[in-house]
Formats: sequence, C-alpha cells, structure tokens
Amino acid sequence: MRIFLIAVFFISSHFIAAQQTDIIDIKRVEANLDLDFYYKTVDGDLDLEFSILKDTDSIYLDAKNLVEYYASIKGKGIKVGFNEGQLILKHDFKAGKDYKIHLEYIASPDKALYFVDNEGSVQVWTQGQGKYTSNWLPSLDDMNDKIEFDLNISAPSDKVVIANGTLVKKEQANGLTTWKYDMVNPISSYLVALAAGTYKKDIMTTASGVPIELYYYPRDSAKVSATYRYTQQIFDFLEAEIMVPYPWQNYKEVPVKDFLYAGMENASATIFSDNLMVDDTAFIDRNFVNVNAHELAHQWFGDMVTETSGTHHWLQEGFATYYALLAEKSIFGEDYYYWQLYQSAEQLKELSDQGKGEKLLNPKASSLTFYQKGAWALHILREQIGDEPFRMAVQRYLNDHRYKNVSTEDFIASAEAVSGQDLTEFVKDWLNQSAFQATEALESLKKSPFMQEYLRINALRKVPLEQKQEQLMDAVTLPNDYIGQEVVYQLVGEPISQTMEIYERALASNKVMVRQAIALSLEEIPVALKTGFESLLEDESYLTKEQALMKLWFNFPENRPQYLEKTRGIAGFTDKNIETLWLALALATKDFDKSSWQHYYDRLTNYTNPSYSFYIRENAFQYLYQLQLFDAQSLGNLVLGCMHHNWRFAQSCRELLDVLVKDENWKAMLQGLGGLNKKQQEFLDKKLQ
Ligand SMILES: [Zn+2]
Repeated sequence: MRIFLIAVFFISSHFIAAQQTDIIDIKRVEANLDLDFYYKTVDGDLDLEFSILKDTDSIYLDAKNLVEYYASIKGKGIKVGFNEGQLILKHDFKAGKDYKIHLEYIASPDKALYFVDNEGSVQVWTQGQGKYTSNWLPSLDDMNDKIEFDLNISAPSDKVVIANGTLVKKEQANGLTTWKYDMVNPISSYLVALAAGTYKKDIMTTASGVPIELYYYPRDSAKVSATYRYTQQIFDFLEAEIMVPYPWQNYKEVPVKDFLYAGMENASATIFSDNLMVDDTAFIDRNFVNVNAHELAHQWFGDMVTETSGTHHWLQEGFATYYALLAEKSIFGEDYYYWQLYQSAEQLKELSDQGKGEKLLNPKASSLTFYQKGAWALHILREQIGDEPFRMAVQRYLNDHRYKNVSTEDFIASAEAVSGQDLTEFVKDWLNQSAFQATEALESLKKSPFMQEYLRINALRKVPLEQKQEQLMDAVTLPNDYIGQEVVYQLVGEPISQTMEIYERALASNKVMVRQAIALSLEEIPVALKTGFESLLEDESYLTKEQALMKLWFNFPENRPQYLEKTRGIAGFTDKNIETLWLALALATKDFDKSSWQHYYDRLTNYTNPSYSFYIRENAFQYLYQLQLFDAQSLGNLVLGCMHHNWRFAQSCRELLDVLVKDENWKAMLQGLGGLNKKQQEFLDKKLQ
C-alpha cells in the first residue's frame, strides 16, 4: 500500500452542472489495480488520457467509494475534492490540449465489486450495469462515454485473473502476479469487468479465428462439456447471421458464485452464475445455452452499439433475446423456436389483458417487455420485410454505428432504407403501443404446423374428459414432447379410473419431459401406478428424480427406506436440490439409518454456511424450517443471509426470519445469538423488537 497525501478542501458546486461530455473527451484509462483479498479493497492507480474541448478550471470523475485519493499531472500534485460520489480535479485546463492525469486511490466497494467465499477460496468479480463501475474504478458512469480501458490487475499468485481484452503479459513479484490486459476498442464503463479466483480453462477457436476461453472451477471439471455445449456453434451461427465480425479480440466466459443475475455481457468477458454449471443429466432440465447465446449476442447489441438512454433498452435486451432464440433454433429446431415465442406471447398477452401492457419504448418497462416484447417486435419485423432485407438492415445499422451509441430511430432508419418500406405502422403497433398485438402474434405462430397441432390440443382444456379421451390418448405419444406434456396437465383433477390408461401410455412413452410432467403434476399416486411412478426415480432428469422421490416418500410410507437407499449420494443440480431433499427426508424418516442421524443433520446445517452458494443455502434453510430443526449455527447463517448482496436471496432470508421471530422458541434462540458484527446485530435487534 502507498502512503497518500490527502488534499481536502471545500468545493463550490456551480461548475458541476455543466455537461461533462462538452468539456472533456476521455480517450483511454490505464488502471493498475491491486486486489487486497484480506481488507477487501482495491488499491489503484490510473492514468487518464483525455482532450479538453472547452477551457475549464476543473473536471470530475465518478468515484463512489474511495477511502483515499491523490492526483497529479506530470508528477505535480493537483487539488482534488470529493463531492457526492464525484472526484473533482482542479487545474487550468485549456481547450484543444491533451492531458494525462495520474490518480492514486484506495476503494472499499460495497457493491459493483464483490469478494465472496467460494467453498473456502476467495473469489472476486464485478458487475457494472446497474451498480456503477466507479465504486472500484473512478471513471464516468455514463453509457455515452466510450473509453478504451486497459486493466493491469495484481492478485495473489494462486488466483487466475480475467478482464476485458487480451492478456499481454503476466509478471510475478512478492507472491503477487500482475495480469496485464489490453483492450483495442472503446466501451462504456458499465462493460468493464474483472474476475479473480481459482479457475481452469478450456480454449477453442471460432470459424473466423477468434479465441474463446471457457473458465471453470477445478471441482466442476465434469460439468464443462455439458455447460459449454454448442458454444462454438452459437458463436459461428451469430457471426454468420449478423454478418458483422465479432467486435473484440477474444471472448471469455467466467462462472462466479452468488452472481446477481444469470449472466452479464461485459465486453469480451461474460460473467455468469455458477448455478448454470450443469452435467449431462442437469442439461435436460436447465442449461447454459440460452444465457450463453444471449450474452454473446450482446457483444454486438449493447457492447459494440450501446443505447443512448433507457428508452432504447430494447435495442440491447430485445435484440439479445431474439438472436439467442435464433441461435437456439439452429440447434434445437423450429418447434423449439415457436414454443418459446408462444410462451412469451402468453405472458405478454396476460399482462396486456390486465391493462398492464407496456410500450417497448418506455424506459421504465419491465424485463418481460424489454426482453420478450422486444424479441417479438423483431420476429414480426423480419416477417414483414423479409429475411434478407432484415439481415442487411441489421448489418447496416451495426456498421454505421460501430463503437458508438444508438437510438431506436437509427435502427428504424436502416430498416426503412434497406427494405424500402414505410415502417410507421410497425413502430406504432410494436414499439409505441402498450397493448400486446396478440392477434397478429397468433397469426404468426400458426405458421408453424407444430403450433397448430399444439393449439388444437390446448383448446381441449375446456372439453369434458369423456369427450376428449381418445384424442388425448393419441396425442400423448406424438413426437413433440410439448404436446405430450400438455396432455398430462389436462389429466390433473380428473378421476383416476378414466385417466389411468393415458398415464400408463405416457409413462411407457419413455419421453423424459412427458414423464416429468407426471412427476410434477400427480400428487396422489394410485397403487396401480406405483411401479410406473417408481420408475421415474431412474429418469435422467434431476427435476424428475427430486419430484418422484418427494412424492413417493409421502404416498408410500412403508417404502421410505427403500426410496432413500435408491437415491443416496445423488447431489442433483448445482443447488444440490436432490441432496438437500434427501437429507431432510432421511432426518424425517423414523428408524432410517439411525446411527447417521447426527451426521445428516450436521451436513444439512452446514449447507446454510455463507461459503456455499446461496441457492444451496436457500434449499437448506427451507428444509430446516419444514423440519423445525434450526440451531444457533443455522440461525446465525440466516441472519447473515438477510444482509446478502443478492437481493432476491436476502429477501427470502428476511421473510423466513420474520416467520421465525413470531415463534417464542426461535425468538429466544435468536436473542442469544453471538458472533454477529455491529450491523448484523442492529438488524437482528430491530427484527426482534
Ligand atoms: Zn441481456
């Protein structure tokens, strides 16, 4: 760590009002960042290269969480002030001149850069969008300022460090390794990223010669091939479909623990949730393919051309969703493509029917609108103007605005110019209309023979069982699983005497997803179906296995030990859905493996520990609640969970804590908890009042 001279002075705020982009044009930031794994700080210095457009006595940088700072020009210190998340640098800046400012600082970020304990190994990762990169890297939190960011990152030598651009050099000194990354093209600051942790990687090269690096934890080596399945195919498909070369030097994908979202499209370095790491069995129920394609599509749509403001957010999310769907169509076929469109249309129609439809150009619209309605708009536009004009319009739009910011008008102008069509009606119906164009969408869906067949079966929902039995019987074995699933769902609540034959046929179909629909929807298992239902435990699906185990355990108490023995040792998805359920059932099964009871209990309790993924912890908390088996350790971990950086997980912990404090026993145990820090204790005290 360096010693800092801190210049503190009062700043008049009158000059802050001026538009920074009119005064200064930042070209490049070269940052040397020391990641301090012990203090969880970033010790940085950076060189900022910029031109001055108008004479000024000060410029600012966004800097949200700086502890200390010092700035200089040509080795000479300059006055620095700090005002509401901005560093104000005072100097006699002259128009037309280029400057280089050197800035040294220590940042202690409480968001945007996270240090997390990954089963005993500390990991660092960043999330810029929505969280502000300036929490750890003073810069401009403005999408409209595109800067070439080159990061040199120092971390303990046992860590692998990943950042935007190409790794040009690695230097080792005093147990630290410095990883020097170089970017060629400019990006908005929300797309700057780094990750550091214990990683291995696989390398591949695309058809156009772009290197791809696929990262993974050493413990996940068995999940690499299923997780990253189709990566190169997706890349090659998108590059050919978009007809514009991939915009960066390489592409990297990095799983991290307790991420805030499914994935984030940092330029050339996508970060994604390690919960998406899957093995061959998990792949069937959930996989990385869609997120993989979505974040890759963003490298063009969002990263290379970036929205000027939230009004145009669909240019990022709608495009990424649509192009991911096209990539998936090239892998899984046209039925899959239409099925996904149908499902999103159903959601959009429901919202619209409730009068809650949103314009695509509403900057405050929900994800459903930006992502799904955006994808629908592009699907409809393509049908309207034709495949080739659509592709050429997108190509022209990207080429005209590469490495710049864009608005909806820019895209529409390209589409009109290429197609020769007036798109006023399209803009009105699909971009500016809050209602969803359900009739037009339905007409489009009906172009798919599969959708026609599906809609025919779906329409039987209102028909009494005795009148549709034969049709359902025939439909359950159609080649398409979506139709078979629909048949099974129509049996729910009907008398088993009339549905037995269809269930038997569905089970005999050996279709994993049709059989899964039975595992999900049948609550009371008739004895006649017992053997068939037990066979679901063998299916190559963790969701099916989980549901089958739970339901068999409830329906046939006399066979519980047998079901537990059969499923012993299966972890399930990365969130350990089967293992945590298994432990809970083992603890609740009288006379099952009594000598191991304490061992199972300790294991389930241990899974509430913060070093485990919050997905695992969430499962463990829920089962401990159902068993009413909390202890001081799991309750303490629950309080920690309430302060977690992932809002959704924190929320679920808070809801559970709210329930527990109403119970006198748990309340007493919570009052006696030790080992909490001040913030955690204050939070708990408030809950206990
Ligand atoms: Zn996205």
